[in-house]
Amino acid sequence: MKIEIDDNAGFCFGVVRAIGTAEEELSRSGSLFCLGDIVHNNAEVSRLRAKGLEVIDHEGMDRVARQGRTQGVRPRVLIRAHGEPPSTYSEAERQGVDLIDATCPIVLALQQRIRRGYEEMRRREPEGQVVIFGKPGHAEVVGLCGQTEGRAIVVSSAEDLDGIDYGRPIRMYSQTTKSREEYARLIENVRRRIADSSEGKAREEDFFVAYNTICSRVANRAAMLEKFAQGVDAVLFVSGQGSSNGHYLFDLCRRVQLRTYLLYGPEDVEQVKEELLSQGVERVGITGATSTPRWLMESVAQELKNEN
Ligand code: SF4
Repeated sequence: MKIEIDDNAGFCFGVVRAIGTAEEELSRSGSLFCLGDIVHNNAEVSRLRAKGLEVIDHEGMDRVARQGRTQGVRPRVLIRAHGEPPSTYSEAERQGVDLIDATCPIVLALQQRIRRGYEEMRRREPEGQVVIFGKPGHAEVVGLCGQTEGRAIVVSSAEDLDGIDYGRPIRMYSQTTKSREEYARLIENVRRRIADSSEGKAREEDFFVAYNTICSRVANRAAMLEKFAQGVDAVLFVSGQGSSNGHYLFDLCRRVQLRTYLLYGPEDVEQVKEELLSQGVERVGITGATSTPRWLMESVAQELKNEN
């Protein structure tokens, strides 16, 4: 069996940058708090935990802030690539916590864009609506909604479009890791609903504006992944459970390669090995999400070689 690891798989630069920042800080001080998982991959989180990274949530930040005040030190908390809403920054300031901001520059630019769009809308069309295509509750989406004082309408599918008022202006943005095709379909759906609404036909051109805010790292990855999946007989897709990008890329891979298997790590190789062998698979491709570390894909490849 020939095993090939996808050269284009692995961490995107936003995640590499956040992990690099954490490792730098850890090598200096030996400990660091991180607000939420630094990446949606348990294996990588465990690796960093062993170096002194402690994952906390917002309640955890209150706790470490209280401890810090008793000990007379300011705790250091990392903001991961997904970013945070403005309330986190003001809360940290109030609590005496030093934030190390590793928000991905692309996410940061999107936050600023949404904030400007929201503020402009409040001035010119106070009844306007900001719509965000994304996964409700996802850290990046929470950070984006925070730019609109929590007023943005989050839509994750066509059903959610019922929550929009088509008689009022709309500005639409997407979470950076969503599917370009799905976003295009939703935009088209919104256009149709505006046209169908009673006043729809008389609308001005900027009544509805949809911005292309999907990260090109993710968008280009889709085409490269399809090509990779078509070039092998089976794909082992390595990804963490909570990765939104992982779910999207896995589905995409499965559309072009029916023999696509989702694995969390080398411990899952045994489950698929028999099926691969029984189907006479000759070329196996190993790939993953933008949150899958290269070393994890290599260990899956190694396990498969051992099992061969
Ligand atoms: S997918 Fe794109 S926007 Fe998201 S963290 Fe990676 S580089 Fe940044």
